[in-house]
Amino acid sequence: MKVAVVGGGIAGLAAAWELRADAEVTVFEPAALGGKVRTSVFEGVAVDEGPDAFLTRSPAAVQLCSELGLDSELVAPAAGRTLLWAGGRLKPLPDGLVLGVPGRLAPVVRSGLLSPAGMARAGLDLVLPGTPAGDDVGVGELVTARLGREVADRLVEPLLGSIHAAPITGMSAAATAPQLLAAARRRRSLFRALREGDGSGGGRPPPGDGGPLFLAPRLGMGRIVQRLHEELHAAGVRVERFAVETVRVTPAGVEMGGSGIFDAAVLAVPAPVASRLLGAAAPPPLAAIELTSVSLVTLAYDAARMEVPAAVNGVLVPAGEGRLMTACSFGSNKWPQWATPGRVVVRVSVGRRGDTRADELDDGALVDRLSAELAAALGSRAAPLAARVSRWPEAFPFFRVGHPELVTGIRDDLRLRAPAVALAGASYGGAGIPACIASGRAAAAAVRERRLAARG
Ligand SMILES: Cc1cc2nc3c(=O)[nH]c(=O)nc-3n(C[C@H](O)[C@H](O)[C@H](O)COP(=O)(O)OP(=O)(O)OC[C@H]3O[C@@H](n4cnc5c(N)ncnc54)[C@H](O)[C@@H]3O)c2cc1C
Repeated sequence: MKVAVVGGGIAGLAAAWELRADAEVTVFEPAALGGKVRTSVFEGVAVDEGPDAFLTRSPAAVQLCSELGLDSELVAPAAGRTLLWAGGRLKPLPDGLVLGVPGRLAPVVRSGLLSPAGMARAGLDLVLPGTPAGDDVGVGELVTARLGREVADRLVEPLLGSIHAAPITGMSAAATAPQLLAAARRRRSLFRALREGDGSGGGRPPPGDGGPLFLAPRLGMGRIVQRLHEELHAAGVRVERFAVETVRVTPAGVEMGGSGIFDAAVLAVPAPVASRLLGAAAPPPLAAIELTSVSLVTLAYDAARMEVPAAVNGVLVPAGEGRLMTACSFGSNKWPQWATPGRVVVRVSVGRRGDTRADELDDGALVDRLSAELAAALGSRAAPLAARVSRWPEAFPFFRVGHPELVTGIRDDLRLRAPAVALAGASYGGAGIPACIASGRAAAAAVRERRLAARG
């Protein structure tokens, strides 16, 4: 069986990995393999330009690393607090949050992040009538209805909004916060439901002894791509270094522009690209999955001049603060292997849905603006010694309310229109690395099974 994998990001590489033993696989990728998973040398050290870790709770990334022989290279980030830049001051994020929603009131009261009126409003969750959640609901709408605007704006938005580079209003709880949706369905009160959990542990913050929540290879996430590339090459997987222009389903097979006919194809590209490639065969809603551009700016400072708070891994910035940065991570605190003597490394994130200010600045202006914001946050006058700008156009899919159902419809429709083609990648079942790996492997398994079924 000949299979084309369009897109050599982590989802496409995972699809090729899944198929390596029982298909003749060609990966089409015009840029560097790995897509957004990219590690490069910054100030003499390997520092990630995109993701710097993966969640361990969903097993796909841990399992792939194990299959690639990377177990012994995996490290957890150093334990550290997260701060919130709220009202012009840095304050610790309270303990016991589930995706920003408090499961306990006392730490939130102590944090000083909510006004007395905001606290009182949050407490109404215990007595208000139930909020209908149905199959899906907006995270912002659900949290505001139960706990009030302040909890939504000051706690949930900075956390969940910075993960997805989008405001939480209209954001699918089913796709981005299934624990909250399950809690809302289980109980009238979100507080109570989160405190109890559902017996599976899914509604509670992870237990302290359950192993690290995040892991990454010591030499950066690019190491996973490097190992995949080595193993795929050894298994005979071909890599064609150009962009596919069209994917046409014909009685003879799946035609990749002028680059041959395949028995099946996995399209591991963002949804609007997949839609363009498929043309008339594309399920119409595919083109409507929206993407948001983000940038990640890595800064190096003289440690003697820039005082980064000890045992703090990063800062989240609520949209309402009016800053350009959405978050920053103190890389050399979080990842001791990034620290070099006398240097501090900070990664600053910008860009969220509806805020394109960073895209309008050139690299120099972006670095100036972000280093000024960082200096203001930390009360420092230090200027960076080195800077690197990593732009990620159209990077994050926006999961609007109803997204899981939309994706089911797209997949069902595509199976009828083009059974030899399957979709994978961040646009569908989640943008996190484990979800992308799982989607690549599932798409590969689907085309393999359909091929076997078609042969009878
Ligand atoms: C700054 C940043 C930080 C992040 N941090 C984390 C994190 O810490 N943890 C985490 O789990 N996730 C994180 N993510 C999310 C995660 O990195 C991405 O969702 C994931 O890497 C996407 O993988 P993918 O394979 O779906 O897509 P991509 O990586 O976008 O790969 C798609 C590939 O398709 C190629 N392509 C496009 N058009 C064509 C064509 N016509 N023909 C052939 N190839 C084509 C592209 O060149 C690209 O390489 C982060 C993302 C960003 C941008």
